[in-house]
Amino acid sequence: MSSLLVDNIGELVTNLAGGGEGGPLGIRRRAALLVEAGEVAWVGPARDAPAADRRIDAEGAAVLPGFVDSHAHLVFAGDRAAEFAARMAGQPYTGGGIRTTVGATRAATDDELRVTVRRLRGEALRQGTTTIEIKSGYGLTVADEARSLRIAAEVTPETTFLGAHVVPTEYADRPDDYVGLVCGPMLAAAAPHARWIDVFCERGAFDIDHARAILACGQAVGLGVRVHANQLGPGPGVQLGVELGAASVDHCTHLSDADLDALASTRMDWTSGTETTTVATLLPGAEFSTRSPYPDARRLLDAGVTVALATDCNPGSSYTSSMPFCVALAVREMRMTPAEAVWAATAGGARALRRDDVGVLRPGARADLIILDAPSHLHLAYRPGVPLIRQVLHNGVPQCRP
Ligand SMILES: [Zn+2]
Repeated sequence: MSSLLVDNIGELVTNLAGGGEGGPLGIRRRAALLVEAGEVAWVGPARDAPAADRRIDAEGAAVLPGFVDSHAHLVFAGDRAAEFAARMAGQPYTGGGIRTTVGATRAATDDELRVTVRRLRGEALRQGTTTIEIKSGYGLTVADEARSLRIAAEVTPETTFLGAHVVPTEYADRPDDYVGLVCGPMLAAAAPHARWIDVFCERGAFDIDHARAILACGQAVGLGVRVHANQLGPGPGVQLGVELGAASVDHCTHLSDADLDALASTRMDWTSGTETTTVATLLPGAEFSTRSPYPDARRLLDAGVTVALATDCNPGSSYTSSMPFCVALAVREMRMTPAEAVWAATAGGARALRRDDVGVLRPGARADLIILDAPSHLHLAYRPGVPLIRQVLHNGVPQCRP
C-alpha cells in the first residue's frame, strides 16, 4: 500500500476541538500528516513523522481540511450576466430570474449540462473544495429533474432534489397541482439519485404548507431535509426546518428571536449518538451579488448556533464557486473571526451534510486537504482575491496545480 507524507507543515488546522493550541481549529505547529489508502493515517509533530513511499514538502505553509461547500446549484445552462448588470444598475433581486435558467436548462442536452457541472466542479476543486453538494432545481419536470440529479451524482454523492425551487410557469395558476407532481412522479424519479430534499420556502416560491408537504414526502422515502429559508424576508422556513430535523437551513438572512431560539435548541443527541443539530448555513456570495444586507453571523454564533459557510454557486444570485471568497466576505462583512469562518467553511459544511469523515484532519478521516501558499489560515481573509491554494489532495490524491 502506497503511503504519502505531507511534511514540514507550519500550521496544521485539524478542526479537532481540544487538539493542538485549543480553539475551534485545533491548530498544530511544525506538524506532519501521513496518508494511506485515501485516508489520514497519522497526524503528529514533524520530528516524529513515520517513513513513507512519497513525500510532499509543505515548506512551512498552512495545511487545512479541504473546504466543504454544502450548498451549490451547478446543473444549469446559460448565464444571467445581463440580469446581474441590471441589478448592479439598481434593479432589486426577486428570485424570478430562476425561470430564465429553467428555460435554458430544459433546452440543453445532457452533455451540455455535464460539461458545465464538470467545469464548475473543477473550478471549485482548484480553489480547495473537496466536498460539494449539488442541487437540481432548474429542470422542474420529471425528466429534467431526474437527469439533473443523475448528472450531479456523477461528480458528488451529496445530491439534493430541489424540484420545489419555484413553481414553473406552466403551473403558475395551479401550484397545488405542481406540489402534487413534486411529491409524486418527480420525487419517484429523483429519489434514486438524491441524498437530500430541499425546498425554497419564501414568498413567491413555496409557502409553509406546501414546503412541509414536500419535505415530508422526501423524508418518507429516506431523503434528508434541507431548506432555503428566510433569505428575502422573515418567514417560517427556519422553524419548519428545525421541526423536521433538517440538517441545515440555508441563507438565514432575516431571523426572528424565535428562529434563533429554535436553531440554538438543536444539538447532537449524545444518548443515541445521532446528529440532530440543524446548522445555519450562510451564503454571503448571494448578498454580495444581489447587493443585499448580510446575515447577522455574530448573533447566531453568540447564541451557540452551529454555522456553516457555502457558496450558493448558481447563475443568478451568486455565480462564485470560491470558498476562500466566502471566507473573506464572512470575516469582512459578517464579523466572523478568521478562525470561525475557516471552521464554518470546513467542519461547519461537514456538519451541514451530517458527515464526520470530512472537514476534519484526524486518523480515519478522508485525506482531503489544502496546502496554502501562506503560513496561516488568516491569509484567506487577509489576502482576498489572491490564489492561495497551492495544492489540493482529494481522497489522498494530489490534484494538478491550478
Ligand atoms: Zn440556493
